[in-house]
Formats: sequence, C-alpha cells, structure tokens
Amino acid sequence: MSNPIAFCPECRQDVKYAIREQTESVNLKGEAYEFTSHTAYCEKCSGEIYVAELEDANLKVLYDAYRQRHDIISLEDIRVIPEKYNIGKRPLSLLLGWGEQTFSRYYDGDMPTKQYSEILRQICASPAYYLSLLEKNRDHLKSNKAYEKSKAATEGLLANPTALSG
Ligand SMILES: [Zn+2]
Repeated sequence: MSNPIAFCPECRQDVKYAIREQTESVNLKGEAYEFTSHTAYCEKCSGEIYVAELEDANLKVLYDAYRQRHDIISLEDIRVIPEKYNIGKRPLSLLLGWGEQTFSRYYDGDMPTKQYSEILRQICASPAYYLSLLEKNRDHLKSNKAYEKSKAATEGLLANPTALSG
C-alpha cells in the first residue's frame, strides 16, 4: 500500500495504521474456510479501522480458496477474456446468451456458477471454441462491428498460436 493512511472513527481523523495478519475462520455457503487476513489498526488508539483495499483483498483470498476447492475459473482468467478476444463485457455476455450484466459481475469478482465457469474456462483456453460461439451466436450482438472486431482478433490468435500464452 503506497499511502497507509485511513480515517479512524475513534480518533476522528486520518491516521497512520499498521497491518496485522491473522488467521480467520469463516463460513462461506455452508463450508468452513481458514485463511490469512490482513487487518488495519490505528497507530494512535490501536483500534481496528476499515480500509477498503484490505477488505477487498481479504475477500479475494477467501473467494480464491472457494474457487480452488470447487474448481471454478480464477478471476485472473476471467479478466483476460475480453481483452484476448477484443470484445466488450456486455457484448460478450449477450453473445453467450446471458443477461447483459452477467459477465461484468463475474469480471468484478462475483462467483460464477459451475456451469458458467466451465464455459468461461473453455473460452479462455480455446480461441477455436470461442470463434465457434461467435459465429453461432453473432445475431445476439447488437452491432456487426463488435462481431467483426472480435472475429479479427480471434483469427489473429488462431493464426499466431505463440501469442496465446501472452
Ligand atoms: Zn485511532
């Protein structure tokens, strides 16, 4: 963290804080998880303070553990997809026949269902599979431009497989 300062409700001012690691046990969807969380403490009064970045990071660690246990695609892999195939998050969601916001929610960290996770994983791994979806469902897209753009990017990947790892 570049600037370890946050508002302390106890001191009623912005304060420096220290970060402590602790092992937490939580229940997620009926299952027990243990993970190392990071919590901020005010250097003046030692009270616990809320730091959004830390909370987000803690949640990600927990969700990553859930993804691993349930064999759900990682957030990193989800985020690669729109860039890899040069398609917007909403058009992609429509292309897959999902709600317009569904992919965006996953992109922001929501947990996909197992079924949707498998589709995303296949798309991420295989430009050929993605291209077949793009052809089959092109009429789901609102603009032909989105189709053309994404098709060009995907064909580029297929023509140059060494770029796939990047
Ligand atoms: Zn304080």
